[in-house]
Amino acid sequence: MDGLPEFRVLTPRSVAAAVAAGARPGSRFVAGGTDLMANLRHGIGEPGTLIDLRDIPELHGIAAGPLGLSLGAAVRLAELAEHPAVAGPYPALAAAALAVGGPAHREAGTIGGNLCLDTRCLFYNRSAWWREANGYCMKHRGDICHVAPTGKRCHAAFSGDLAAPLLAHGAEVEIAGPHGLRRQPLGDLYAEDGAAHLLLAPGEFLLRVLVPPDPWPAAYAKARARGAIDFPLAGVAVALRLEGTGVTGLRVALTGTNSRPFLLAGTDALLGAPVDAGWRERLGKLVQKQVSPMRTTLLAAQYRRRVAAALAERLAGHLADAATP
Ligand SMILES: Cc1cc2nc3c(=O)[nH]c(=O)nc-3n(C[C@H](O)[C@H](O)[C@H](O)COP(=O)(O)OP(=O)(O)OC[C@H]3O[C@@H](n4cnc5c(N)ncnc54)[C@H](O)[C@@H]3O)c2cc1C
Ligand code: SF4
Repeated sequence: MDGLPEFRVLTPRSVAAAVAAGARPGSRFVAGGTDLMANLRHGIGEPGTLIDLRDIPELHGIAAGPLGLSLGAAVRLAELAEHPAVAGPYPALAAAALAVGGPAHREAGTIGGNLCLDTRCLFYNRSAWWREANGYCMKHRGDICHVAPTGKRCHAAFSGDLAAPLLAHGAEVEIAGPHGLRRQPLGDLYAEDGAAHLLLAPGEFLLRVLVPPDPWPAAYAKARARGAIDFPLAGVAVALRLEGTGVTGLRVALTGTNSRPFLLAGTDALLGAPVDAGWRERLGKLVQKQVSPMRTTLLAAQYRRRVAAALAERLAGHLADAATP
């Protein structure tokens, strides 16, 4: 890896101080640094100032109450996975946190950093000299996309694990910035563009994630090239509610396949029926229609499409089996 560029680090102690620091031109927020520092070493971005968010008390803590879970954006993934308010009632979220990288990444990496992870691509997460030798690419410094040379946008994949279970649970995010605080559904944070996938205005950062109470039974699984440490080639969260044997609620969220994590549309068509082989096949087809993996990883796009569908079918089957006496 290349050396780091020069930058200064600010450590604000309050939300207001972080917002003020974020107004500096060329500044960038950082938390655990497990994604950002690797990118800076690859010459992707040269922020003059890094604003470390981890000393702000409002970004810490996990609280459970009648309104659900409140998760500070600077909560570390190891902390999230082990917390009793998460591990018991929200096992899909704990599983996704435990599926991120290796133990060292989870000790340092945070919820906010995971949700605001840069998108990834075989032609982008490379050393500066490798990218220069290949004429860079549209996402940074270049003007063509090596994955879809005739296309007009970057197809780099969003590969954070946490977003999928949080979407399946209907989570919202609280955002701080120069215009105050705002709250919105997590899904509205993302756009389907690998070079501009985060819909945050300049100077805005995540403060908290809010997860509704009484979660439906849910599960998360991911396919990855290396079982020990790896980003999802496809990550799937399924939340399923049954009454008797009939499905009365279904949310399926996907990550790793598109430039944004997203909730599967059209799941209402699967309500009212039992989770049998035909039902699972219909779910798989819905997934295959809506994911759009491109040649951004070592594994073929078609494999990622099919494995996403298989994971969704399998998770739904397991949840239904677990709910049936
Ligand atoms: C070898 C390796 C394997 C990995 N495997 C996985 C994996 O399997 N799954 C996975 O999901 N990730 C993986 N990661 C990526 C990373 O470790 C995690 O996603 C981690 O949670 C990122 O959090 P962080 O606090 O370190 O983010 P940082 O690196 O600090 O920040 C990441 C991005 O988020 C922004 N940011 C940070 N906090 C906020 C905030 N509160 N508001 C707004 N923007 C913010 C930063 O500006 C930056 O752009 C891996 C990384 C490595 C190096
Ligand atoms: S999808 Fe294309 S533009 Fe985006 S990072 Fe990969 S090669 Fe670059």
